[in-house]
Amino acid sequence: MAGKKLTCLDCGQVNRIPSEKLGAGPKCGTCGARLLSGKVAEVDLATLEKAARNDDLPLVVDFWAPWCGPCRQMAPQFAQAAGDLGGQARLVKLNTEDHPQAGAKYGIRGIPTMAAFAGGRERARQSGALPSAAIVQWVRQSLA
Ligand code: ZN
Repeated sequence: MAGKKLTCLDCGQVNRIPSEKLGAGPKCGTCGARLLSGKVAEVDLATLEKAARNDDLPLVVDFWAPWCGPCRQMAPQFAQAAGDLGGQARLVKLNTEDHPQAGAKYGIRGIPTMAAFAGGRERARQSGALPSAAIVQWVRQSLA
């Protein structure tokens, strides 16, 4: 069956979107949230694991915390990269202060750390803040 599986980053429902509808602003069949918003979504550990495991579109996670200055500096750069990457990958962020078990689960040693998932596994990891153009380049290289 053609199409792509996309986990709703709002409610966690796994949606299957026909290929021809991917470019037409697909929405979650359960809660109506946009699945490809081009914006950075905040996720918890359960949603992250579900999306990383199931999604047919690459997922890039920014592990961050509010007390981390470089993380806050990178936030607008990451948001810019999310828009630039559009339908190529979805960008999400996970607050390691709110979800400390996620940092342990993924072995995050320092923040900000970005991890790129595709095809059900982690493909690349990058520590330290980057400007948006470098984030976009890193994501494309990681998924090539
Ligand atoms: Zn939903």
